[in-house]
Amino acid sequence: MTSTTRQSRVLISGASIAGPTLAYWLTRHGYAVTVVERAAAVRSGGYPIDVRGTALEVVRRMGILPRLRDAHLDLKRLTFLDGNGGEVASLHPHAVTGGVEGRDLEVRRGDLTDALYSAVRDDVEFRFDDSIDTLVQSGDGVDVTFRGGGHQTYDLVLGADGAHSRTRELVFGSEARFHRYLGYCFAVFPMRNTFGLSHETVMWNTPGRAAALYAVGEDDDVHAFLTFAQPEPPFDAFANRAAQRELVASVFADAGWEVPAMLAAMREADDVFFDGVSQIRMPHWHSGRVALAGDAAYAPSFLTGQGSSLALVGAYMLAGSLAGRDHTAGFAAYEAGTREFVAVNQGLVGEGGATLFPTTAEALAQRNDRLRRLVAMPAAEPRSAHSALTLPDFTAGRPAQ
Ligand SMILES: Cc1cc2nc3c(=O)[nH]c(=O)nc-3n(C[C@H](O)[C@H](O)[C@H](O)COP(=O)(O)OP(=O)(O)OC[C@H]3O[C@@H](n4cnc5c(N)ncnc54)[C@H](O)[C@@H]3O)c2cc1C
Repeated sequence: MTSTTRQSRVLISGASIAGPTLAYWLTRHGYAVTVVERAAAVRSGGYPIDVRGTALEVVRRMGILPRLRDAHLDLKRLTFLDGNGGEVASLHPHAVTGGVEGRDLEVRRGDLTDALYSAVRDDVEFRFDDSIDTLVQSGDGVDVTFRGGGHQTYDLVLGADGAHSRTRELVFGSEARFHRYLGYCFAVFPMRNTFGLSHETVMWNTPGRAAALYAVGEDDDVHAFLTFAQPEPPFDAFANRAAQRELVASVFADAGWEVPAMLAAMREADDVFFDGVSQIRMPHWHSGRVALAGDAAYAPSFLTGQGSSLALVGAYMLAGSLAGRDHTAGFAAYEAGTREFVAVNQGLVGEGGATLFPTTAEALAQRNDRLRRLVAMPAAEPRSAHSALTLPDFTAGRPAQ
């Protein structure tokens, strides 16, 4: 955009991690930004997430790194248990995730979304409780109608509305084309911390099943995770809460350790989050005047622990690539500059699955041997994928080479 043109108007769908990051950088690059979010407010609940490697530089440049350092959860221990509840190995979480002590961050998801929202809310128009209904592209704009009523024309529309993105569906077609199911399902829900756990995770495994209790503080609830191998995606359960609970309960019906208490807590919980473990893989992240970022374009799955970091980095790259360019060149530069980073991080999925959820007795025994050897090693190497991109400086309008 040059100073002689009118200010370009951008609509972003989704106000979680990728959306506010896009909004922050686009306003700095001179765009007028509106964010539409389906929920009534920024959703602040949720599980702990990691911010690592290149993504740390994004939050540093946004000025929110000190706030996130204060929110760092500093988990001390990850303990793996066998089917009888006996200890297999107890190690620092970074030994498994490749995180870097003293540098990488783990924060409650809500602490990250709150920090991002605070950084943009004064400069951006937010439309909560609303979403895109229809979207029609023409040569010089995108006509959008909103579910809540009204319509508007924007120069660009950017989808940051998550793995089940409505923007993607409207422009690129059904999710099934881009969805790569990885063979597991999971349920996550809060339960009382009656286990005396503090700043630690305990994970129980039998072949194809894992139950984890994740305690971020001393007194808080724990996050309970039940994950299981399921060769075909259970489409019926995705849309039916009762069916989700029934499926999880039947898979874990004969499980030992604390699993019966976890199943009881799941039945009582108001907010059980159930989904398949999957990735989104697309040949292109843009079409005409519409582009996607974050999970909408390249969800890596929680097996990689890199979803939030990809959302932060991808949003920074998309906004910066548009600075000083028309959208055609900007979107092409975004893809050229970001694809490799996405590919290496999505590729971490094999390591995550093999470590957390071995599906056969043999694979589980091998995993347990690996973990016992890890305990004896001093420190894990950081994963190169986490820092596989050096962020350009887009603030001068063109990236510094
Ligand atoms: C259980 C679990 C554990 C995870 N653990 C980790 C981890 O340890 N580390 C990590 O890095 N990542 C983790 N992730 C992944 C991480 O949460 C996501 O990758 C990340 O949140 C992606 O951010 P996003 O902004 O692209 O999308 P999302 O966070 O999915 O946000 C999408 C936003 O769009 C809104 N929205 C959806 N549809 C519409 C619509 N039609 N109109 C308007 N708004 C809409 C939603 O309400 C939401 O606010 C985990 C995910 C899960 C489910």
